[in-house]
Amino acid sequence: MTSTTHVVRAATIPAPKQPVEVREYPRPELEDGAALFRTLLSEVCGTDLHLQQGLLTETPYPLIPGHANVGVIEEVRGDVRDVGGTPLRGGERVSFLDVHATCGACWFCLVAKATTRCPNRKVYGITYGADDGLLGGWSEYVYLKPGVRIVRIPDGLSPETVIGGGCGLPTALHAVERSDILLAETVLVQGTGPVGLSCIAFARLRGAYKILAIGAPKRRLDAARRMGADLCLDVETSTVEDRREAVMAATAGRGVDTAIEASGNPAAVPEGLDLVRDNGTYTVVGQYTDHGPVQINPHLHINKKHLDIRGVWGIDYSHFHRGILLQERYNAQFHWEQLITHTFTLDQANDALEAVRSGQAIKAVIRPGASG
Ligand SMILES: [Zn+2]
Ligand SMILES: [Zn+2]
Repeated sequence: MTSTTHVVRAATIPAPKQPVEVREYPRPELEDGAALFRTLLSEVCGTDLHLQQGLLTETPYPLIPGHANVGVIEEVRGDVRDVGGTPLRGGERVSFLDVHATCGACWFCLVAKATTRCPNRKVYGITYGADDGLLGGWSEYVYLKPGVRIVRIPDGLSPETVIGGGCGLPTALHAVERSDILLAETVLVQGTGPVGLSCIAFARLRGAYKILAIGAPKRRLDAARRMGADLCLDVETSTVEDRREAVMAATAGRGVDTAIEASGNPAAVPEGLDLVRDNGTYTVVGQYTDHGPVQINPHLHINKKHLDIRGVWGIDYSHFHRGILLQERYNAQFHWEQLITHTFTLDQANDALEAVRSGQAIKAVIRPGASG
């Protein structure tokens, strides 16, 4: 817990489908340009559950999860600066972008300008394993390699607010921008997990006329209303036909201008395609994990509808950086910290995953400094 500690405790997934266990690692020596980060809060998200279930490919085990983190700079070796060029010093409260080593030199980075598809990217807590170092946030300390993008947390923004937004917030920012929501459009958000809830907030900031949300359970629908949804439809107590009737009634029978899929359920996609108006936009951000195929009708769903369908993969530094600015400016309206419903210690990591799996939690977090 103190700087004299030479052993670092980290919750570790030993192998796919195995329970998380707390392991001890040596406190790392810093190379030039690196920093040591003392974790205050680390998020538990659906991706962590999928990592434990072995559903992601290209993941090395054993693995220390935790890709959205807030903490304190414990130690810096050499010259480490933020994007504005200001040196980072010990004791500062920071977060860092989990995506590391986007190369800026490959075909996707330079020609396609699609940096989130750069094949050289590595992600803390997802594609770096424990054998690569302390590179996940379910750990007392995280090793910030040279080149990791670090951002200061502005005064007045609490660690709870930052992690309440978590990885879902910059993902939602990316999805909403990808959707090109216009002023006074009617927007449907499918899914009321952390990504969907921030999509609702950002659709509101984009000047949506009306926001509809489909999700569950009630606790998440209440949060959706707080984030700015005008009409919430409970996916557990309604049928596809019920929801279609409600959406058409709210849109003069035409369907919504824009829909964003943030549910993670493949069945949401054909349903959503049905609920967008002709010449509307449909954006898929919720299918980060492969949950299998569904059937669509290309004639009815795409061609005849003249539909614009877009996918969203990951985030880059810009989404992360501007996400913090949006939290600083708009948290009084959206209160992201209120999305945190469950807090766990490192030793309770399995309980944390269960809270996410069961849908009990809106947002679960791990506080590695807490004992237990
Ligand atoms: Zn995540
Ligand atoms: Zn690249």
